[in-house]
Amino acid sequence: MTAPDELLRLDRAHVWHPYGPMPGRSAPFVVSEAAGAVLTLADGRELIDGMSSWWSAIHGYRHPVLDAAVRDQLGRMSHVMFGGLTHEPAVTLARTLVELTPDGLEHVFLCDSGSVSVEVAVKMALQYQRGAGRPERRRLATWRGGYHGDTWHPMSVTDPDGGMHALWAGVLPRQLFAPPPPGGFDSPIDGSYADSLVRMVEEHADELAAVIVEPVVQGAGGMRFHHPGYLRILREVTARHGILLIFDEIATGFGRTGEMFAAGHAGVTPDVMCVGKALTGGYLTLAAALCTTEVARAISDGEGGGLAHGPTFMGNPLACAVANASIGLLRGQDWRGLVHVMEKRLRAALEPLSGFAGVRDVRVLGGIGVVQLDHPVDLPAATGAAAAEGVWLRPFRDLIYTMPPYVTSGEQIVQIGRGIAAAVRAG
Ligand code: PLP
Repeated sequence: MTAPDELLRLDRAHVWHPYGPMPGRSAPFVVSEAAGAVLTLADGRELIDGMSSWWSAIHGYRHPVLDAAVRDQLGRMSHVMFGGLTHEPAVTLARTLVELTPDGLEHVFLCDSGSVSVEVAVKMALQYQRGAGRPERRRLATWRGGYHGDTWHPMSVTDPDGGMHALWAGVLPRQLFAPPPPGGFDSPIDGSYADSLVRMVEEHADELAAVIVEPVVQGAGGMRFHHPGYLRILREVTARHGILLIFDEIATGFGRTGEMFAAGHAGVTPDVMCVGKALTGGYLTLAAALCTTEVARAISDGEGGGLAHGPTFMGNPLACAVANASIGLLRGQDWRGLVHVMEKRLRAALEPLSGFAGVRDVRVLGGIGVVQLDHPVDLPAATGAAAAEGVWLRPFRDLIYTMPPYVTSGEQIVQIGRGIAAAVRAG
């Protein structure tokens, strides 16, 4: 085993980290094991994972059922190409996703990551419009403050002003942006905002292929919540103009907001929906873009005769098998009750922080707790202070937040609250 100090030296010299420079400037924590909701570091420290590994490990780590699913599938086959071949783990997963997602989503494209599923969703929209005889409809509309991933089309619908991909403003395809929805999850609908949203879509209907949004929660773009009614408004105006509605449920899917999918808060079926992250319980990289029969038919009857996408690791059997096991685990328990209890515990842990100096807002929805400061977070100081309380957090901009695994105990949530309080004081 390489000693932790040497590992860090090699890491700094050779390994890129997300959005990081090379050679690396900060020293990441070296994780040697993870079990339940706890990460064990190489120096022996234990940290409760307040991040679920970027919101994916909903059942925690080393879950016996998920471990067994991977082991069992490994004993049969780890991977085969998906062109001309198929297999049970993928077919079962596709069927399950069709059953689980809003009615009307019937067809499933399995791909490698959330960003790629958004690329696929955009291709679906562009090919759909071509198939429908409207090839000039190539633009996308969204609201500001969103985040859809790090490949080209997803970057183009991430906020160009100060968003994560502001570096690329002027180079990316020119999309259309409305302001982010005002208010929070429980705030009433703002009529004038809703009117302006509808007007924007209508004025640009002839050039729009699709509207893409994160339903109910804008995640990495700002951890904002909005009223589900805005989704119904978007559904109505897009349907009226033959524009597709794409929901990016990569962060919100699989119970995180208190509904299996955030679309459920609005009772709306989009034309295309992306899922990822918690799809495999955070075990392996897998995502999917689902669409309606109308979308699939226009693509399949159009030029090319099919969807123009086919990654090497499409439908990876290990990933599909663990996704099936993860969804089975979720459905086999009272996940709604679990998330509801977590919401209550997060409120109890975080709401007292609203009185802290420098705190602008505290908001909680389902298994998501957010503390927004009135200044940018000092990342190393905040992360270090939380770690000193035995909690792993990864704040960004002015946001210190948590999305813990659903297996996190009441005591562990209290500890996460202490970690966030320490991060607020330090950051
Ligand atoms: N869409 C949303 C809403 C996300 O939160 C993310 C990741 O944070 C992505 C897309 C990109 O997913 P991935 O990191 O798996 O490419």
